[in-house]
Amino acid sequence: MDYKSGVLMQRYEVGRLLGQGTFAKVYYARNITSGQSVAIKMIDKEKVLRVGLMDQIKREISVMGMVRHPNIVYLYEVMATKTKVYFIMEHAKGGELFDKLTKGRLKEEVAQKYFRQLVSAVDFCHSRGVYHRDLKPENLLLDDAENLKVTDFGLSALADCKRQDGLLHTTCGTPAYVAPEIISRKGYDGAKADIWSCGVILYVLLAGFLPFHDSNLMEMYRKIGKAEYKCPSWVPKDAKRLIGKILDPNPDTRITMAKIKESSWFRKDLTPKPESDSKKVSDGDPGPSRSNTANEESRQELIKPAELNAFDIISLSCGFDLSGLFEDCSHKKEARFTSRESASTIISRLMETAKSLRLKVRRMDKGLLNFEGTLEGKKGVLSIDAEIFEVNPTLYLVEMRKANGDTEEYQKVLEEDIKPALKDIIWAWQGEQHPKQQQQPLFEQQSLQNQQQSLQ
Ligand code: ADP
Ligand code: MG
Repeated sequence: MDYKSGVLMQRYEVGRLLGQGTFAKVYYARNITSGQSVAIKMIDKEKVLRVGLMDQIKREISVMGMVRHPNIVYLYEVMATKTKVYFIMEHAKGGELFDKLTKGRLKEEVAQKYFRQLVSAVDFCHSRGVYHRDLKPENLLLDDAENLKVTDFGLSALADCKRQDGLLHTTCGTPAYVAPEIISRKGYDGAKADIWSCGVILYVLLAGFLPFHDSNLMEMYRKIGKAEYKCPSWVPKDAKRLIGKILDPNPDTRITMAKIKESSWFRKDLTPKPESDSKKVSDGDPGPSRSNTANEESRQELIKPAELNAFDIISLSCGFDLSGLFEDCSHKKEARFTSRESASTIISRLMETAKSLRLKVRRMDKGLLNFEGTLEGKKGVLSIDAEIFEVNPTLYLVEMRKANGDTEEYQKVLEEDIKPALKDIIWAWQGEQHPKQQQQPLFEQQSLQNQQQSLQ
């Protein structure tokens, strides 16, 4: 079923097809009131549900809403009808970086610029516990100023997908760019795996072709496992050295993001300096930030009116009935709420609450707490993880998950003890009426229904 050009939710004029993925079509569109260009990713819910990828879509929404960075495609809002989910995103006018590469390798300084921007975006995500896991040129877009924009967080996983060993366990990604530890199906560290993919991308940018390639998939996997590749002669020595440190099959000895940023090739000043204003150029930071910042600012200007972001939508979606975007909120193991309090207030209130419930509190990590009961329940000791994410400096999202024990008991503690105890710091609890919603409906229920009909 193809989407016919027209008006979406009375707000966006939908135009040409920009690209297509497995479950989604991406269209160019314009916001009717502001005239702003956007890209709308339309996902067919049925297809997604059929293969059980709804969780991935939800993750994509939360991840994109969480990471605001000049080199990450910005998600303005999410809308849904009974059959479709729409991501309203920043439009990357320059298209796919991949298209540039089909014309051959890039100049060293261009490759360096994209690589720096890639590292900046990926490092930023990692610092927030978000791993992309499908980094490849098709998911790297360019804006009109030729800045890199990472997109397609469909496969990315938050730290919450880690098992007890702290490692991710889903096999995903695209073979040519995938790290050896993913192929061998060992649990893997999402950060290290992304670093590997960045290394493959760097190789492709400089060489113009893939480091690991074979028509026989097993052979390709073997080469990846041994990091068996050759650098063509035109790849500069210092870049070659850096690629070597990234494409280390052992994730434990593989170079870190911090070290990549310190490497000589990464820092090397390659910008051609015009004679006349060489002074101006030389005293600045060679990093990619300046034009980005300006861009970021103008974007912030444009998006100001949109008050709620993806997280608000998540926290609202059940009560708001986004036509079952989050079908089974009520029996879900995780619960989310947003809060306008500071992170430290939220943490101390969570700790107080846990203590009053005689739960043992442990701080696992930055922003991650664990509460554990003392009594053996039906299915062992009850254990709850609570993780705090910053959506923006004035809005935090807290996600609570059952880490162990009986689900019913967990639900009961959550509903009857934790929620009431935190009442005054909760801004919106997932699936419940939101104070703001009454004054400012995000999408009219009526128009949603109309839309549903017209899409069927
Ligand atoms: P999938 O998850 O199905 O792979 P993507 O999000 O990667 O979908 O989008 C598919 C294609 O649509 C991209 O490869 C790109 O060509 C195009 N596209 C996606 N997002 C944008 C955007 N924000 N601006 C411009 N083109 C885009
Ligand atoms: Mg894609």
